[in-house]
Amino acid sequence: MAGPKASGLDLGRIVSEVHDELATRIGEGTVADYIPELARVDPRQFGIALVTPEGEVAAAGDADRPFSIQSISKVFLLTLALGRVGESLWTRVGREPSGSPFNSIVQLEHEAGRPRNPFINAGAIVVTDVAMAGHSPREAIGEILRFMRYLADDDDIAIDRAVAASELDTGARNQALGWFMRSFGRLDHEVEKVLGVYFHHCAIAMSCRQMARAGLFLAASGRDPLRGHSVVRPARARRINALMLTCGLYDASGDFAYRVGLPAKSGVGGGILAVAPGQASICVWAPGLDAFGNSRLGGLTLEALARRTGWSVFG
Ligand code: GLN
Repeated sequence: MAGPKASGLDLGRIVSEVHDELATRIGEGTVADYIPELARVDPRQFGIALVTPEGEVAAAGDADRPFSIQSISKVFLLTLALGRVGESLWTRVGREPSGSPFNSIVQLEHEAGRPRNPFINAGAIVVTDVAMAGHSPREAIGEILRFMRYLADDDDIAIDRAVAASELDTGARNQALGWFMRSFGRLDHEVEKVLGVYFHHCAIAMSCRQMARAGLFLAASGRDPLRGHSVVRPARARRINALMLTCGLYDASGDFAYRVGLPAKSGVGGGILAVAPGQASICVWAPGLDAFGNSRLGGLTLEALARRTGWSVFG
């Protein structure tokens, strides 16, 4: 679809102009090198896609190339776990920004193994443990993958097994987090099994177009507006967005809220999913990261897009 919509915004044009403006900075940042498979990714890639609740799609650059979604998967795991156990999830994990790096262990000892929020690694490992209840690891991985395929309305989405294996081989930090939480009795399943599921959902590969589509329910009060299905209740979508805004970019969440003003979740594969409630679900991808593990070009792109569209959760 082309041309201005009811909002008066020509999104196709805005997306391609923002892409072209930021493409001059392609390659900035550093690819995640603590996961060997991700260290091999060409940093000179850059994609953007958005989907509106009316079904308008705007995309530019490498919007159709699959990338490793990494921590963006934590949003969908949280959605699944809340569906499973409801608000009792919050006895296992908090809802406060950590102010610490995504893989930090320091707060866990003071806080008796209860992670600050579901988006830092420790929190996502706990959420994974909750989502595994009643499932073998293989079944749990299958359920997560099916959920992503359903939300993206695309059965081609798959797990990149080489990325999952690479992280299993080198994930000493996540192993440490898992065992530390286990020492406080915070995990119901064996650490190896929880981490196996965690690494596999982080290793799902999706394109910007697929990810923007999968996140659309968060921009549409919990509904998939294109199929007319309810994914979660409106209050739950609002709360997931609140957590993304406060915790989605780790210890850069405050700066991102100031600069962009939209709930978002980043991953060390270089993707960022952002939600403009009522307006659009947006995914940008550029593999070069900043010091906080967030896509450098991705953040700049969302900042430019928010400025051009006027989208913000702050009025
Ligand atoms: N799989 C990655 C890890 O556990 C996810 C981190 C991220 O994307 N911030 O380290």
